[in-house]
Amino acid sequence: MKSKTIGQRIKELFGLKDKESVFYEELEDILIQADIGIQLSIELVEELKEQVKKQRLMSKNDILTALKKCISSYIKTVQIEPLKDCLNIFLILGVNGVGKTTTVAKLAHYFKLKYNISEIVLSAADTFRAAAIDQLQLLGQQLKVKVIHQAPGADPGAVVFDSLDSAKAHKSQIVLVDTSGRMHNKTNLVRELSKIDKIIKSKSEKSFYHKILVIDATTGQNALSQGEAFKQALGVDSIILAKFDSSAKGGIAVSICKNLGIPFSFLGTGEKMDDIKVFNKQLYLNTLLGE
Ligand code: GDP
Repeated sequence: MKSKTIGQRIKELFGLKDKESVFYEELEDILIQADIGIQLSIELVEELKEQVKKQRLMSKNDILTALKKCISSYIKTVQIEPLKDCLNIFLILGVNGVGKTTTVAKLAHYFKLKYNISEIVLSAADTFRAAAIDQLQLLGQQLKVKVIHQAPGADPGAVVFDSLDSAKAHKSQIVLVDTSGRMHNKTNLVRELSKIDKIIKSKSEKSFYHKILVIDATTGQNALSQGEAFKQALGVDSIILAKFDSSAKGGIAVSICKNLGIPFSFLGTGEKMDDIKVFNKQLYLNTLLGE
């Protein structure tokens, strides 16, 4: 049986009449289970209690709106708009399996449709996983965009170097770099990503360079330590919360914003090319907590 969503559980809570303390205790549990984090969930419930008292809120709708307002103040978002007349370089980071390769294709599709940009280069710099190169080539064919790749095991830095050269030669507007999330060990991964970062910086004069971390909504609190590690290793400009459609635990975004201060740019809402949405606070909270 499919487990209840956070929104359904909150709705049921409103059915508990005249049991204020139970309501708040249960709400705290629900927020913790949604991965908002223990401390923050406690703080949010305290804040909500105060608001309910101060504004004498009675109706289910008003209390839910107040809760969303409390949570909303912790969420940071950023809207990504490719700059005109310059190369826009997006480095896509994240551990293995979170949805990086799929997200690269989704972003290319989004930029094509929203900004009418056709000159896009996909850079297959995840050379550690042979299937990632094939996957990206296939997606590139579907999207009718160029994919720069080398053989599995090749130097990812060299792939990025070639991708940027190709983009400049063809006056492309966007380069999306897929990276590996798995290496023999963490030190190797960080060394490799730092090398890619250096290459991009050395070749990105007059470019817009944005580092995006992809996290998987189903991973829960573990995503917080992933965010921390990537922030420390090379810095992260924004985060995409992938697989938001498959998880009742998308509250991790609130926890990351509060603890790491990194804004969210997009939501991944499925496996298809157009399953990507600009991270809009209201949409996110309505999906997470119900309307
Ligand atoms: P990578 O190893 O990080 O490059 O991950 P992939 O892009 O290969 O994705 C791993 C799996 O997650 C694939 O089966 C994708 O179809 C799936 N996936 C990626 N994004 C989403 C999403 O937003 N929602 C769902 N439901 N699945 C996703």
